[in-house]
Amino acid sequence: MEFSSILLIQVIFSIGCVFIAEKRGGQPFVWFFLGLIFGPIAFIIALTSGKKCTYCQSWISKDSKVCKYCRKEL
Ligand SMILES: [Zn+2]
Repeated sequence: MEFSSILLIQVIFSIGCVFIAEKRGGQPFVWFFLGLIFGPIAFIIALTSGKKCTYCQSWISKDSKVCKYCRKEL
């Protein structure tokens, strides 16, 4: 595979990571670089990270104690 096509795949995965991070309360900037370096691996980690708020079903950070959307304690 050509280097440019590998780079393209990495960029696609990093954009995917940014989308997931934004949805799930992660840091998009950090995930962009993780996606760029690790590609599909970072994408899978991003998919499995975070948790769903039991009250409003929003994706939030795994470590958060209070939901940032509905302000309920978890
Ligand atoms: Zn909530």
